[in-house]
Amino acid sequence: MSDQFADRDRRHLLHPLHSAASAADPHVWVRGEGAYLIDSEGKRFLDGASGLWNVIAGHGRTELLEAARIQGEQLAFASSFSGNTNPRSIELAEKLAAICYSNINKFFFTAGGGEATESSIKTARYYWKLKGQPTKTKCISLVWGYHGLTLAAMSATGIESYWNAFEPRVPGFIHIPSHYPYRYEGPSGDDPGLAAANELEAAILQEGPDNVAMFIVEPVTGAGGIIVPPDNYFQRIREICDKYDVLFVADEIITGFGRTGKMFGLEHWGVVPDIVQFAKAITSGYFPLGGIGVSDEIASTIEAAEGPYLHAYTYNGHPIGCAVALANIKIIEEEGFVEQAAEKGSHLLATLNKVFAKHPYVGNIRGKGMMCGVEFVEDPTTKEPFPTEKQIGNRIHAATQQRGLFTRVRGDTFCLAPPIITSFEELDWAVDTLRQSANEVLGL
Ligand code: PMP
Repeated sequence: MSDQFADRDRRHLLHPLHSAASAADPHVWVRGEGAYLIDSEGKRFLDGASGLWNVIAGHGRTELLEAARIQGEQLAFASSFSGNTNPRSIELAEKLAAICYSNINKFFFTAGGGEATESSIKTARYYWKLKGQPTKTKCISLVWGYHGLTLAAMSATGIESYWNAFEPRVPGFIHIPSHYPYRYEGPSGDDPGLAAANELEAAILQEGPDNVAMFIVEPVTGAGGIIVPPDNYFQRIREICDKYDVLFVADEIITGFGRTGKMFGLEHWGVVPDIVQFAKAITSGYFPLGGIGVSDEIASTIEAAEGPYLHAYTYNGHPIGCAVALANIKIIEEEGFVEQAAEKGSHLLATLNKVFAKHPYVGNIRGKGMMCGVEFVEDPTTKEPFPTEKQIGNRIHAATQQRGLFTRVRGDTFCLAPPIITSFEELDWAVDTLRQSANEVLGL
């Protein structure tokens, strides 16, 4: 059956991140049940990446489908453009104002993450123009940061392999080294968290504070390999942004809605951003919805403007999407996803640490809540990575799939970010499956 699908797929589909090799033998996903994905041959896989980090409530949640059905019957779509609105988008914005950072109370919706990044970039530029500082347009971000692949978002994304085929990038996008505690080497003797944050100050001074609009960063780096910042990093980032009038944009497209054990990721470090981006888990992936929230200062500046904010997407404030998001946030609250992610995430990290403590090829184990990464290296003493051609990460990924665990790798870092509803037993199974698979690939 999968061959038949594969053939038809190859004829007519161009996939995200397409390659002929990967299209040759695709997974054909036909069903989802709780934390599991089921393929066209009936094989079950633990969904170790929650789809694409989004399916936090797990598969088959009829409450979410019911919310979509009820809303769809009443009103499937109407414009949200200036002068138009609908009750579900109002309710969702009210709910977000209640659960998001206290300084953020106004929201703009999109159909996904890349559009959220575009919206932050355009809103930051617009804000500085309204403030009489039209030269503040540049955007600084981290190497290994991932912010989407539309053209400006791709330019903010700090993973070079995504740029090469599409250069030139949008001008005015600058990347600074990641705080990456395992590998970042600042000036010797300096505190690594402060030194990594001070890279931002150096870049702002290099570009000229009058030219820099924003710094965009994920609270925990996701697609770049699950990198958790040192605890003093974000406090210093906030200080630097304040000092040079640079907007601090938190890309919470993965970390928002409980994944890290807080409703929003920066809560771990007691700082607030000027703009927050969200998508993915807001609907558990049951409807494509994202957006940004802006600070009261940005909101009031926009409200006071003479001209309109001429930024728009057809699907802004989609009534069905907003209804699904409201039902999903109800699940997050009623089932205590924030607490569950904190507890299960600590268990997952502790189990990984226990199982891989003396592993001869594990260099680093890291995580925050239900997003953990295990970095395999050739020599943990020197942190020397495996040569790329050995394809260790991809081979371990293939071996875990043989055993029924499906997730993602970034290079030789194995990422685990299953749905929040995954049980403790399933988490233990995933860790043991990773151990068996890694040992098979590494000849242990
Ligand atoms: N930002 C972050 C942090 C993401 O993880 C992603 C998606 N992986 C995006 C932006 C882009 O979202 P989308 O793929 O919905 O455009």
